Amino acid sequence: MSQQKMSMTTKILIWMVSGLVVGSLINAFASEVTFIQDYLVNGLFHVVGALFISALKMLVVPLVTFSLICGVCGIGDVNTLGRVGLKAFLLFMLTTALAITLAITVAVVVGPGEGFDMQTAEHAEFTAPAAPPLTQVIIDLVPTNPIAAYASGNMLQIIFFTILFAVCILMIGERGRPISQGAEKLNDVMMEVVNVVMHVAPIGVFALMAKTFSLQGLGLILPMISYFGVVAFVLVLHMTGTLMMLLKLLGRVSPLMFLKKMRTAQIFAFSTSSSNATIPVTLRSVENRLGVDNSTASFVVPFGATINMDGTAIMQGVATVFIANVYGIDLGISGYLTVIGMAVLASIGTAGVPGVGLIMLAMVFNQVGLPIEGIALIMGVDRLLDMMRTAVNVTGDAAITTIVARAEDKISMETFNDPDAGQVEEIHLPHEASLPEK
Ligand code: ASP
Repeated sequence: MSQQKMSMTTKILIWMVSGLVVGSLINAFASEVTFIQDYLVNGLFHVVGALFISALKMLVVPLVTFSLICGVCGIGDVNTLGRVGLKAFLLFMLTTALAITLAITVAVVVGPGEGFDMQTAEHAEFTAPAAPPLTQVIIDLVPTNPIAAYASGNMLQIIFFTILFAVCILMIGERGRPISQGAEKLNDVMMEVVNVVMHVAPIGVFALMAKTFSLQGLGLILPMISYFGVVAFVLVLHMTGTLMMLLKLLGRVSPLMFLKKMRTAQIFAFSTSSSNATIPVTLRSVENRLGVDNSTASFVVPFGATINMDGTAIMQGVATVFIANVYGIDLGISGYLTVIGMAVLASIGTAGVPGVGLIMLAMVFNQVGLPIEGIALIMGVDRLLDMMRTAVNVTGDAAITTIVARAEDKISMETFNDPDAGQVEEIHLPHEASLPEK
């Protein structure tokens, strides 16, 4: 059995790498072959990849809702809920600030973009999309119509309404119990739906990787290697350094065990470029693999997917220094401090979906007076960096969830330390024989 268990995580990884290789080969040798482009890249890979992403997104809203109701009812009182929320919020802000400070420091030392040849850059246009002002972000926390919030998948509004709803289930006491019990059963069902979807993950991951890399060859990186390299380096440094140190010091858990168990969620984040779409897998990893109690995970994970973006902050830090260097603008200490503050604030109001990092970057550039057109320079490599930073974003969400759970004594260390706990392979589609007789 254990060998079988091993094979599923490895299987997803193998399919992911195969997708990368197949895509890169197509990009290198068959980018002009119409048949391959039409039927494979924009046909099969596109359809399978899009189906897989839709299947993941389909799980997010019902899973978060039922899981959050169980979580709040499990916590049992509003004060504890407030304390958990505040701790998570402060830690999310702290890690984002640490991430961008690290990024700016490394970028200033390495100096990417100094002597950059503008000719090598793509002459793409970047028009900054309008970003919501902070006041609006705060106002928008409360949905005017919860159904509309659910229908559009507005995470912060859904979290707000669901928590309020669940607190009121607690407030009506005994009469509310059937509802919380019902939510528990529905949550079990949704977790099983996650398991079923994860069964097709290897193929979905393959299709996403193959499509991305056939459109986006690795050769694109070359002219931007200094920028790309610094972002990639700081992403790794933050994930294996800052986050692991926090896990060790504040969470008193083994960082290596944590990383090992986060692998599946990281692969999903990498191939979907969306922390939001990865929520079902992150939740599953944090609860079943790391042993965090549902009462903490159900709340902190979706909250983190929306407001915590360490990887994105890193990209913004490096991009700011890079563009400032390219245009020969000296931002000075106060400029960089503004960038740090802005990046932290910007991450709160923007959801974890593909490419949102660039929108946040436009907000930051606006604030410090860097030319927004500069973003066009880095757009070429952004797709790849989006994949990498999303994996770091998701790792940050899970790390803080673990630390908060540890502080609240809401984590089973037995599960955490068991290398096989909650393996993906435990997913099983029921055989007909085990279904109830009709
Ligand atoms: N794709 C990232 C995420 O979902 C956000 C970004 O950096 O664009 O976390």
